[in-house]
Amino acid sequence: PPPPRLGEVLDFEEENATTFGHKAFRPGQREVVAAAMRGEDCFVLMPTGGGKSLCYQLPAWCCPGLAVVFSPLVSLIQDQVDSMNECGVRSATLSSGSSDYQSVAAALGALPAHGDYKLLYLTPEKLAHSGHARSLLHRLAVMGRLSRFVVDEAHCVSSWGHDFRPDYLGLRILRREFATIPIMALTATADSRVVDDVSRVLGLRQPFSWRSSFNRPKLDYQVRHKGNKKKQVLKEVADYVRQRQNETGLIYCLSRRDCEKVSEELQNALPGSFARKISFYHAEVDAAEREDRQRRWSRGELKVICATLAFGMGVNKPDVRYVIHYSMPKSLANYYQESGRCGRDGLGGQCVLYFSFKDRATQEVMIRDEKKNGPRDAKAVDQELHALRAMALYAAEKVKCRRRVVLDYFGETGFDPAKGCRDLCDNCRDKRPHEERDFTSHATNVVKLLRQITSTTPTRAGGAANNITRAGLVDAYRGSANRQMEKIRATNAPLFAAGSRLGKKDVEQLVDRLVLEDVLSERSVENSSGYNNDYVFQGSRARDFENATPNAKFTISVRLNG
Ligand code: ADP
Repeated sequence: PPPPRLGEVLDFEEENATTFGHKAFRPGQREVVAAAMRGEDCFVLMPTGGGKSLCYQLPAWCCPGLAVVFSPLVSLIQDQVDSMNECGVRSATLSSGSSDYQSVAAALGALPAHGDYKLLYLTPEKLAHSGHARSLLHRLAVMGRLSRFVVDEAHCVSSWGHDFRPDYLGLRILRREFATIPIMALTATADSRVVDDVSRVLGLRQPFSWRSSFNRPKLDYQVRHKGNKKKQVLKEVADYVRQRQNETGLIYCLSRRDCEKVSEELQNALPGSFARKISFYHAEVDAAEREDRQRRWSRGELKVICATLAFGMGVNKPDVRYVIHYSMPKSLANYYQESGRCGRDGLGGQCVLYFSFKDRATQEVMIRDEKKNGPRDAKAVDQELHALRAMALYAAEKVKCRRRVVLDYFGETGFDPAKGCRDLCDNCRDKRPHEERDFTSHATNVVKLLRQITSTTPTRAGGAANNITRAGLVDAYRGSANRQMEKIRATNAPLFAAGSRLGKKDVEQLVDRLVLEDVLSERSVENSSGYNNDYVFQGSRARDFENATPNAKFTISVRLNG
C-alpha cells in the first residue's frame, strides 16, 4: 500500500484489516491506538503475546511522520523491522553498523516530504552512546517529522524491575529535550511500583493507561515442597519428564552447577534415545554452543533444556508444554515471566515450582553478598528482599488461589478464581476445608521467646549472643528438650514450652511464616569453626509484636484434616 501523504491521517480500523491483515483487535488495542492517534501519552501493560507491537505500529503507520521505537535487543529489532517492511510499513534501525546509519540518515533527511519511513528502531544504548543518533532525532524534530517516541520493554527503566538496564535511564532526555512529542511506554511487567517508576522517569503526562489481565487462563500452576532430599526431587523430575517425552519443556535452575547436575541426572534416568534430547544452558557454555542448543531446542530437536535465567530473552517457542523451576526464582515478576514461556500457542501447559526454605535463604545470601555484588545500596537490597519475600509467600501459600496471589501482587484487582482459575492450580484443586486462625498471641510469644533465649543466655567470649536455628526455635516453643536446647540454655527462658499444646507442623508453619513476613529474619552466620549456619533473629516487624502495637496481627490459613 502507498504510505500516507504528508499531513494525511489514515483510518486505523481500516488499516488494521488491510495493511496489517488482522480480522479484529485484541483487548485494549483499539483503545490504545485511538489514544495514541489523539496525541496522548500512553502506558500499556499487556502480558507477553497480548499484542503490544500493534499498539504503536498501527498509529505509526496511520499518522504523518516517523515513530522512534526504543527496544532492548538487536535481534528482536531486526525481526520487527523485517516483518514491518513485509507489510509495506517502511522501517529501519540504526543498531547495525555505521554504513547503515549513513544510508538511513540520508534517506530520512532526503525524503521528508514523502514521509516514507514510518518506524525507526533504536536500542537505548545507541541513544546513550552515539551523538549521531541524538542529533538525528533533533534534526527530525526540527523538521516536524517525529510523530512519537515508543519505549518497549519499559520496565527496564526501573531499578525495581527485574531487568534494569542503566542505558534505559538515558531515555529520560526524551521528555526533557522533545517536550511536545508524545511518548508510549509498553511492558509485560505489571508490578505497580515499576509502573509508577517508569511513568516518573519518562515524565509521562496523564498517560492513557491500559492494563490487560495478566491471567494466563490455560496454564496450570503447582508448587511442590522439596525438603532436603535432593535425590527424591531429581527422581520426581525424571518421572515427570519420562511421561512427557513428546513434549518440549524447560527446567530453570539457580546455579550453573545445578543445570549440569539436573541435566545429567535426567540423561541417566531416561532411555538413551531420549537422553540425547536433553541438554543444559548457562552463561559459561561457549557462545556458539549456547546458540546451537537454543536453536535445536526451538526446532524441537532438543526436548528438555536445564537453564539458568540466562536462557529467556528472545526465546519465542510457542509450544513449550511445561516449565519446571528446580529452585525458586528471586521474584514473582521473574517467576511470572519464566513460567509464562509455557503455552504461548494458547494450548495450555504446566508450571511446577519446587520450593524449600533453604532456597529462600540461599537467595537472601546472594542478595546480601557484598563480595560478589560489590558494596550495595541499602535501598536496592531492601527492594530485592521485598521481591524475594513475595516470591516465597507465593510458594508457601497453601490455601489461596495461586493466580490470585500473583495478580494481587501485580495490583490486578477483581480477579475471581472461580471464573479465572477453574481449578487450574493446586490450591484451588485442594478441596479439604480450611480456616483462618488467629495466631497473634503465638507469634508474640515466639518473638519474645527468641529475645529471652538470645539475651538471657550468657554470651561467649567476644560478646556474641547465643544464636538459635529455625528448627531450634520450633523445639523451644514446643518444649522439646535436646542438645541444642541445653547448650544454649533455652530451657531457662520463661516462655520455653509455651506452645506445647500446638503440633509440630503448626509451629513450623508459624515460624516459617514469621520469617517470610519479616517478623523474624533468617541469616547465615559464620561460627567459630568457620561454618555458615542459618540462625533466626528479630526481623523488621518484631518490635510490633514485642510492644503489642496495632500492627501486631497474625493469622494463618490452615487446611483442616491435613
Ligand atoms: P507482545 O509484544 O505483546 O508479546 P506481539 O505484539 O508480538 O505481542 O503479538 C503477538 C502475536 O499476536 C503476533 O504474532 C501478532 O502478529 C499477533 N497479533 C497481534 N495483534 C493481533 C490481532 N489484533 N489479531 C490477530 N493477531 C494479532
